[in-house]
Amino acid sequence: MDTAAVSQTCLVTGPYDIVDTSDDESETTPDALADAPRVSGVNGLSGSVQVKILEASDDGSLDGSEDDEEWDIESVFEETLGEIDDQYLFQGDPNACTYDEAIQYRNDLRTFGPEEFCSRTIEAGTITAKKLLTAFNLRPPPDMEGSPDDAYYQLLSVGISRELSKRIKLPQYNTIDDAVDLLKQSRNIIVLTGAGISTSLGIPDFRSKDIGLYSKLQHLGLSDPQEVFDISLFREDPTYFYSVAKDIIPEGDRFTPTHKFIHMLQQKGKLLTNYTQNIDNLENIAGILPEKLIQCHGSFATASCIQCKYQVDGTVIFPDIRANRIPRCDKCIALLRAQKGANGMKRKRSANGQDKKRRRFDSNSDSEEEEDYDIPEAGVMKPDITFFGEPLPTRFSERLTTHDKDLVDLVIVMGTSLKVAPVSDVVPYLPSNIPQIYISRDPVSHVNFDIDLLGDCDIVVAELCRRAGWELNHEMVPKDQKADIKLQDGFTSRYRFSVEN
Ligand SMILES: [Zn+2]
Repeated sequence: MDTAAVSQTCLVTGPYDIVDTSDDESETTPDALADAPRVSGVNGLSGSVQVKILEASDDGSLDGSEDDEEWDIESVFEETLGEIDDQYLFQGDPNACTYDEAIQYRNDLRTFGPEEFCSRTIEAGTITAKKLLTAFNLRPPPDMEGSPDDAYYQLLSVGISRELSKRIKLPQYNTIDDAVDLLKQSRNIIVLTGAGISTSLGIPDFRSKDIGLYSKLQHLGLSDPQEVFDISLFREDPTYFYSVAKDIIPEGDRFTPTHKFIHMLQQKGKLLTNYTQNIDNLENIAGILPEKLIQCHGSFATASCIQCKYQVDGTVIFPDIRANRIPRCDKCIALLRAQKGANGMKRKRSANGQDKKRRRFDSNSDSEEEEDYDIPEAGVMKPDITFFGEPLPTRFSERLTTHDKDLVDLVIVMGTSLKVAPVSDVVPYLPSNIPQIYISRDPVSHVNFDIDLLGDCDIVVAELCRRAGWELNHEMVPKDQKADIKLQDGFTSRYRFSVEN
């Protein structure tokens, strides 16, 4: 791949497309959203989502050959590439751009376009492709160390294309008071939430390394810990899911100050919709109205039989989950008992022991074990959380595309790294001139927010309320709490919040 190919791939089609193997268009249309794979985006993990690297061949034609250029998105972005946040660019690594250089390169890319940008940089020899990767938040893969520089061109085209697809930060919103003003003025706020808004209650974050749920699953021997949420595996053997379910079922009726904050927005008539990735149902407990709440991955609020679809209140199966039992469907059990009763009556009528079938339900039969396989079993109950391989709640795309898109005047993203669909699809779908605020423990590099408020969500929202003059009464927020806020070095709109204990 020569230098021209780097820009060419970006110019013509962009160097990568998210390819849904079901061959659907991956455009953000209502239909596409409804059918979107559960996981997408640059750090998507679904096995059904792949990145296709398009490379210009020697004759200049684009070759999208899927056989040799299709990589699993997980290996491309999480293992091979690895992202680096802008903060890394301040660490003085001589092999990385400085933050100022990175900003200049990003601006140049937008100003000149990919072709001219490449000719001014890697082609002119002013910087190596390997180092230029870091300007686009990509870490050169360690296993490529020592490779010739053109080996990095393909990755660079990924970085360039990704950069060009990012929303541009709105320059007029930078300070915490800007954020407070936005809160006060806005009337139709979309709030996107993830695990980070519930962790202060001890509910594990699914994705965090070390403390996350997935890191606790290694003993299960799954090739990918996300398989515990795979519907095929669940149908095959629900014990994987139920061995971890007791750690994630909601306990009690507590919710966090952040949930309270969202409820406050609702009470002030400012909440348009709360899209949540969380399945803990705490939004419901906090009083978010069902019509304003989209639980993108379902929730534990209800549970259904995987055979007959009989639905019960979610809490009905909690005792079984806590006792390490697989919850079974009462309706199926009743049906089986009725059938067994009917068979028992038949047995009495035949009465000579020749009918082998009748022994199926005889628990004292010697042949019980060998005939186990054809004994009908009651269906397994499954919480109505959306597993991989299951369709998303249809309300999600309906609400977003036919209602929210034209009304939204502020987006607040809280406690999620926005790497899992469908929540990750919401921000790019909304008009880019709508201000966006990010509240979470760690920054993300694949989305440009207008203001980044980093730290514990509960601390950040309490401080925003204090500044807005709104009373956030919650037992987890000490009276007179005032956050210590530091502007991150080198940034104009990124703050770190903490409180002294
Ligand atoms: Zn059933």
